[in-house]
Amino acid sequence: MKKILEIYKSPSQHWVGDGFPVRTILSSQRLGEAISPFLLLDYGGPVEFPPTQQALGVDEHPHRGFETVTIVYQGELEHRDSTGNRGRIGPGDVQWMTAASGIVHEEKHAREFAQRGGMFEMVQLWVNLPAQFKMASPGYQTLLDRDIPVVNLANESGAVRVIAGNFQRVKGPARTFTPINLWDVRLKAGHRTELNVPSGYTTALVSLRGKSILNGTEKVGEAELALFDRQGEDITIEAKEEATILVLNGEPINEPVVSYGPFVMNTPEEIRQAILDYQNGRMGRIEH
Ligand code: MN
Repeated sequence: MKKILEIYKSPSQHWVGDGFPVRTILSSQRLGEAISPFLLLDYGGPVEFPPTQQALGVDEHPHRGFETVTIVYQGELEHRDSTGNRGRIGPGDVQWMTAASGIVHEEKHAREFAQRGGMFEMVQLWVNLPAQFKMASPGYQTLLDRDIPVVNLANESGAVRVIAGNFQRVKGPARTFTPINLWDVRLKAGHRTELNVPSGYTTALVSLRGKSILNGTEKVGEAELALFDRQGEDITIEAKEEATILVLNGEPINEPVVSYGPFVMNTPEEIRQAILDYQNGRMGRIEH
């Protein structure tokens, strides 16, 4: 059995722009090297937005040195960036954006969704890049719901959507720079399931919805986090209610992390350079 190091209770909510009421469940500021290669996980919603003509969200801003992974559960998002990419993602879709050497983007509720209003629920995960890829070219992967394979769990206990890496030899569509398994797990109430994760990797279980019991003893509920020891492979999850859980599993990057707002680098000098490069327009701009 994989040992649980700690359960973290649901944090308080804050707003990102005027579109994203989030709880920061995972943050390298607080947890440091223990969560490498992951840096941050914000859980947005679930919340009901009334119909509006406004473009809710976050206006253009830069990133450098890492990747942002946006998973939509409810609602719709629109994205535009300085590489000319733009896209809209809805329930079940994932956007995997590689900021790397630098990108400027905006993140908004999709216009049609905003006008209609409705339930909104999403996750944004930040994944670090090792030094050798921090200045690679920026990129963008849209992973649509239909392209994300679903593995049904034994005894009809639920299902796992494989976003990145592998689950039971089924491969997810995301291209990653370091080994990462990212699983969107749905469990049915009253069922118990066992997950097997590679030993030696960072393993975090993010409980988004529903109450569950981990390894037979530890309770997790809505917007809570369980951090596991890197050794060991087996986790049991008993869903007391219908549960939505994200499993983050990845090889740690053993390098210094220096972050400043939207930039995550290895040294303070590189942060200063990132600020200069953004101010001088070297991360590009969004063409309107
Ligand atoms: Mn952003």
